[in-house]
Amino acid sequence: MKAVAVFPEEHALRLVEHREPAILAPGDVVVRVLEVGFCGIDREIASFRTGSAPPDSPYLILGHEALGEVVEVGSAVRRIRPGDLVVPTVRRPCRHETCRACRMGRPDFCLSGQYTQRGIKEAHGFLAERFSDDARWLQPVPRELRDVGVLTQPLALAETAIAELEQVQKRLPWAALGETGGAGKRAVVLGAGPVALLGTMALVVRGYKVTIYSSGGRGEKAEFAESLGAQFVSAEEEKLDSLVDRTGRIDVMLEATGATPEALAAMEHLGRNGVYLLTGIPGRRGAFTLDAGYLLHGMVQRNQVIIGPAHPSAEAYRSAIQDLALFSRRWPGALPRLISSRMSIEEAPGAFRKPAIGLKRIVVVAE
Ligand SMILES: [Zn+2]
Ligand SMILES: [Zn+2]
Repeated sequence: MKAVAVFPEEHALRLVEHREPAILAPGDVVVRVLEVGFCGIDREIASFRTGSAPPDSPYLILGHEALGEVVEVGSAVRRIRPGDLVVPTVRRPCRHETCRACRMGRPDFCLSGQYTQRGIKEAHGFLAERFSDDARWLQPVPRELRDVGVLTQPLALAETAIAELEQVQKRLPWAALGETGGAGKRAVVLGAGPVALLGTMALVVRGYKVTIYSSGGRGEKAEFAESLGAQFVSAEEEKLDSLVDRTGRIDVMLEATGATPEALAAMEHLGRNGVYLLTGIPGRRGAFTLDAGYLLHGMVQRNQVIIGPAHPSAEAYRSAIQDLALFSRRWPGALPRLISSRMSIEEAPGAFRKPAIGLKRIVVVAE
């Protein structure tokens, strides 16, 4: 079958003929891939800056954001049936007996760091005609989400951050009075890519007043944000301190820029008891400096919390699937607009190397 693979040693990226997946254990499932989304991590793997092949393979099959249809299940699989739509999670457990997290089926909290990630780290991804996996790593998706289910993984990144935010907010004295959720709170989303816009939707449905603050100018993304009831402010037009003066205290910042220096420095404008949520990984583009002493002093003085990019749990994927259904009812037609272009698997190797344009690009592997 066809697959798109990167050869880290050769510095090559091309279509390969890969062996067909099969049911090797009673818990296995074979999935026919329908669509695969790609993001900044894929572009970094495609330019050989990150990513590693499985130990027994000269190449790594790309793709970690997938939607597929089940074609075959092992004898022990009950929860999933042939014909079901599914989204696979990305991280798989390490082999260490002493890693409590992985032994509990929670590689999102892996202690050894020797987990694998499909399409990223030592395990093949999903940009192939078919793949197999243990059923426990597959989340069922309702048929009505067929056109947008490929957005589950990027939304799960925001869902993870928001779930951790809700944990942290429980420390506030008024949480005990039942005042939880986003009502009366203000959030600033830094960035305007797919994770930022999906995160905006997730915050708006929880009652937050959301402002998207983006380095780019107004345009399609601004119009999209406003159609959700969020505000869009371009950094070209207004400084963040003036935005805070105008709108009031920021309770939450959701960083979805890939952790640019500007987005990290924005933390200085977070309000008292505020929470700064990172979804990107700083330093991927190289080293930069920030006045850490100044920023940390402010964080301690203002009782703030920074939460790092926790890897999504199965629970975060389930929340993402529920929220996609909710967003589809609340904003009919909005989610499909986040998918800016579709291409075939043959076109994918060339597209991975090009810079990001527009919103989410997806590869249509099968109809
Ligand atoms: Zn991604
Ligand atoms: Zn582990």
